[in-house]
Amino acid sequence: MAEVVGNGLKPFPTKKGLGEKKSMKVEFLGGVRTVTGSSTLLEKGSLKWLVDCGMFQGGKELEERNWKIQPYQAKNLSFILLTHAHIDHSGLIPKLVKEGFRGKVISTKATFDLCDVMLQDSGHIQEMEAEWQNRKGKRAGKGEAVPLYTMKDAEKCLRYFQSVNYDEILHLADGVKVRFRDAGHILGSAIIEIWVEERGQEKKLIFSGDLGNFDQPIIRDPSIVEEGDILWLESTYGDRLHKTREETVQELLKIVQEAMAHQAKVVIPAFAVERTQDIIYTLGQFIREGSIPPIPIYIDSPLAISATEIFKKNPDCFDGETQDLLSGGENPLDIPGILYTQTTEESKAINEDPGPGIIVSASGMCDSGRIKHHLKHHLWRQESHIVIIGYQAEGTIGRRIVDGAKTVRLFGEEIAVKAHIHTLGGFSAHADQRGLLDWVSHIHNPQLEVFVNHGEEKISMGLAQLINDRFHFKAIVPQWREKRVLFGDEEKVIPEERVEERLPSEESFTVLFKHLDRTYKRLRRKLKREKKRGEDFYDSKRLRQLEEINKKLEELEEELE
Ligand SMILES: [Zn+2]
Ligand SMILES: [Zn+2]
Repeated sequence: MAEVVGNGLKPFPTKKGLGEKKSMKVEFLGGVRTVTGSSTLLEKGSLKWLVDCGMFQGGKELEERNWKIQPYQAKNLSFILLTHAHIDHSGLIPKLVKEGFRGKVISTKATFDLCDVMLQDSGHIQEMEAEWQNRKGKRAGKGEAVPLYTMKDAEKCLRYFQSVNYDEILHLADGVKVRFRDAGHILGSAIIEIWVEERGQEKKLIFSGDLGNFDQPIIRDPSIVEEGDILWLESTYGDRLHKTREETVQELLKIVQEAMAHQAKVVIPAFAVERTQDIIYTLGQFIREGSIPPIPIYIDSPLAISATEIFKKNPDCFDGETQDLLSGGENPLDIPGILYTQTTEESKAINEDPGPGIIVSASGMCDSGRIKHHLKHHLWRQESHIVIIGYQAEGTIGRRIVDGAKTVRLFGEEIAVKAHIHTLGGFSAHADQRGLLDWVSHIHNPQLEVFVNHGEEKISMGLAQLINDRFHFKAIVPQWREKRVLFGDEEKVIPEERVEERLPSEESFTVLFKHLDRTYKRLRRKLKREKKRGEDFYDSKRLRQLEEINKKLEELEEELE
């Protein structure tokens, strides 16, 4: 296989002598014991880089981590290897660039194209959320909220991207080689192989990224990897078995036919990338085969519309079946009856149309975006069908619907859940337990070490146990911010006290200073009023109170030294 430095990429410089003799280190910055915030920091001598730089989503406690990014060492990083465009893998890149990252973000071309729209969309969401919090916060007298990053920041970060091809070995730095392989998860998704020189010996790290299923349409199957020393393995569905693709497709067909018979609508919350295109492909297949007549299919998500365009622009990532359809003059993503709705007016008009139809909208976990409006319209209708096809994280509205909630809260209103709720696991973009174990079984190295990541804690633990039992590989589930030495005889886990203190973000200070300013102003106003009150109000109790305040202020002043 040809060894190249892809598309004009020059090897990144390393400083000789700086910790060269020491073994490589890793720090788990995210995507451990949770499915979000995927990021791993690797250190080899003076060279530092990340694999993925994802955003944490799902609850205040997790999302707080998006602000504390000092451990990512933005300024000191040479590059970021990006497995794919999903926000839980790419979403903090704009923030890192904002904090001084000036290296390269290395990804496939399709991942770059998708990041172009997805990161800007994410910036837009951040801005909207800060605005909403400010409106709410003002009424509650709270400090000003700032967005994590803006659409502009997201646009700026794109100039640091560098696309590379699948299957080429890239010589990135002294003793560091990298190869992107197809992960079959979403368009452009990659498994990343990294060869590092360790005390004169070559060792290989494998990052599975998010692994896809073997029989999903449009994109290719995951590549098989046969060699490696340390594996980072995702575990989203490490505890579950999906139904087969064929069974799932038949189930969807039945749901659509039933809805048509009752003049009802089918609502499908879907991630804008991959799930939406997969559904378009499948519905197109029903129409091509004559199983259903062309009925209105609404793709109601501006991001999904952009993503579909990107799919059409990257046909080299398609599998054989889709390539055949294309060369036969048929684009499986252009089907009769499909309506792409861009504006909010068009979106609202969908529910005024009384006939049957299929609404595909984002977000996939029902927590934001236009899908919430469609759920509000259809959840309480007995004749409507809601089809859940993607992963629903803990704490999301989608998860509550799947778990059988009788009502859910949407736009401040309790909405009854009366519609037919279906969960179709076979459309998942993630391999199930069987798929993951099968993929791992191809690696022949009895000494293989496995870090199980990208999964809820219990699921990752369960999968690690299975891997230990079945293959006798050493599989462990790391902790968030755990540091380890990767090779060598040294003690592997770096003890807690050597983990440097987490530094708070600049934003936290800005917000706090503003709050302090306001408190201080209020205090000044109260004191002024006090002085004006006159002797009628002065008694010994008042004197003690003022003495007490004076003492406290002096103490506070000292504390700021
Ligand atoms: Zn993903
Ligand atoms: Zn993921």
